Amino acid sequence: RAPSKGEKAVLKPAQPAKPMKERDHAAAPPTLVVEPDALDGERGERYATGGFLGKGGFAICYEGELLDRTSRRSGHRFALKIVKTQMAQRKMEEKFRTELQIHSKMHHPNIVEFHRAFTFQSSTYIVLELCSNGSVMDMVRRRKYLTPPEIRRYTIQLCGAIKYMHHRNIIHRDLKMGNLFLDEHMNIKVGDFGLAAILMTDKESHSYQRRMTLCGTPNYIAPEILEKGRKGHDHRVDFWSVGVIIYAMFCGSPPFQSQTQEEIYRKVAKREYDWPHLSKCPNDIPNDARNLVSSLLVDADSRPDADEIVSHPFFTRGYIPDRIDPCCRKLQPKWP
Ligand code: ADP
Repeated sequence: RAPSKGEKAVLKPAQPAKPMKERDHAAAPPTLVVEPDALDGERGERYATGGFLGKGGFAICYEGELLDRTSRRSGHRFALKIVKTQMAQRKMEEKFRTELQIHSKMHHPNIVEFHRAFTFQSSTYIVLELCSNGSVMDMVRRRKYLTPPEIRRYTIQLCGAIKYMHHRNIIHRDLKMGNLFLDEHMNIKVGDFGLAAILMTDKESHSYQRRMTLCGTPNYIAPEILEKGRKGHDHRVDFWSVGVIIYAMFCGSPPFQSQTQEEIYRKVAKREYDWPHLSKCPNDIPNDARNLVSSLLVDADSRPDADEIVSHPFFTRGYIPDRIDPCCRKLQPKWP
């Protein structure tokens, strides 16, 4: 049984599992339910529910378009994330509350904009910025790997979003290719704040208080989250995930990928990973990129922060495109 989204926050050390793969966002909806138009009673606004976008651990997403007073389509399109109000598990309720509390306060060009939430016919609707080009995970699945210029552009956008979150004492804690969505212009939009946390600053030392909760998707989890007699973890877990994401964009799968969850945790704890042989991954991985990844997959104290990451020679010595064409979702681009 593949672990479902709601289970990912729980650490069960010796549990056998299927190879950890991110969810298939493009999966077909489970049933052919036609969702009715949704009414935001408080604002008196109605949304036409359109095509299926994807299904998560506890939510299902459809395209939505705001209707005007005469019930005509306004041209304002959104993603409607629908969550049945009678949520089965407490954990999911918590995830949902966190998402509402934290995500609604994030406003950045590389973070999915949270417009509003309302209740309609015993479901909660979250109106989000529409990311019509899917996720980086979908793109890597189709293409097998991305080119260095694309990886530079996406990583810079991701680091901008992380810098913004950390500045506001928010750690995302679940950064992975499947949570990096792409808007119509192929810009990165960080989404899914269900595992995010607010860091309290320590008034005396002005340093971050380290969090104790165990969370994260196994392949992207930072070692300090796994350590026994844990000291807790802080915002630097997000930079570990950046290292895993860069590796995965180059190679098609994350560095600690293994047959079992236990094996993934063992490798993460020892920081044990290899770069694939050319016969397995024909991507030409520059040495600068390898150095950058190895500088991130280390103890928290030694990891570079967002500004240091984007100042690395991988970025300063390489080509960074101004834009990426949506055809790159399927086709390998050629760069000058
Ligand atoms: P959950 O919180 O249940 O995991 P997600 O936030 O992952 O749900 O959303 C489920 C799926 O819906 C995603 O995998 C993606 O395919 C789609 N989706 C989510 N947000 C958006 C968005 N803003 N634009 C387009 N598709 C989205």
